[in-house]
Amino acid sequence: MGKLKNKVILVTGASRGIGKGCVTKLLSEKASVIATDRDEALLEESHREWIVKFGKRIRIQFLDIASETDWIEVMSDIEANEGLLHGLVNNAGIVNLKPLEEMSLEEFKETQDVNLTGTFIGTKLAVDIMRRKNNAKGSIVNISSISGQTGTLNCGAYSASKGGVRMLSKAIALEVGAKREFIRINSVHPGVIMTPMQTERAGNDEELWEGIRKSIPLGRLGKPEDVANAVTYLLSDLSDFMTGAELTVDGGMRIALSGGQYND
Ligand code: NAP
Repeated sequence: MGKLKNKVILVTGASRGIGKGCVTKLLSEKASVIATDRDEALLEESHREWIVKFGKRIRIQFLDIASETDWIEVMSDIEANEGLLHGLVNNAGIVNLKPLEEMSLEEFKETQDVNLTGTFIGTKLAVDIMRRKNNAKGSIVNISSISGQTGTLNCGAYSASKGGVRMLSKAIALEVGAKREFIRINSVHPGVIMTPMQTERAGNDEELWEGIRKSIPLGRLGKPEDVANAVTYLLSDLSDFMTGAELTVDGGMRIALSGGQYND
């Protein structure tokens, strides 16, 4: 407890799933969290849960990560209210599972606009405020996916966007490092995590879930807390010699899928 005491951290896509799990974990580590999402009603609902659990209101704000105008407004508010930013979790994202012949150009572009361009804008503005207001110090955690490490069947747009997030993180980590600035940028690569993104897609198909579970060496599906723990580590001083790195949080699924002979 207290690993992130007094650190000002912005989380995107915070109203449900992994983002919500991150906010809950960061609050338990005493961070000062600004929780954002494009779904304001759901964000308000989650806020009510955090108030009950932690006994205080936190700052919540509307942010569509694909909109540069929204990002500028949120960062200006942070500068005016908190005065600085220590951490950013670029978590919000969308998935579009379609084979190439069914994927329209508009759908492909939308996936890049949210997952990759949204992460780019957030990273750019966070580096800017960290440079000016926190002596060029801070930690940015970009949520990619194992799809961004290996590619996933019928998932070209999503895999491309998440591969982009992975490489953007490494390239910007190099860029700030070359200036001897202490802004660390790392990516996290979840496997199958039980969130609305997954359940809305696959529903209650128990056979499917059992098949997925069997493909995971550690024998269970992921939980938002699993990802939130990795995010907390990367935001905290415990990881202060890590930048441009990637943490895979998948119970071993990626190595099993990419050539490992694995049988449950
Ligand atoms: P989720 O349950 O769908 O939650 C994502 C949240 O982000 C939703 O509240 C969503 O709002 C919001 N969001 C989407 N687009 C946004 C935008 N343009 N601006 C602001 N908010 C936006 O998803 P999740 O499973 O928690 O996923 C979180 C992140 O982890 C994503 O980047 C995802 O790609 C990544 N990931 C997830 C898994 C997994 O198995 N769950 C695996 C690998 C990587 P709406 O409901 O309005 O879209």
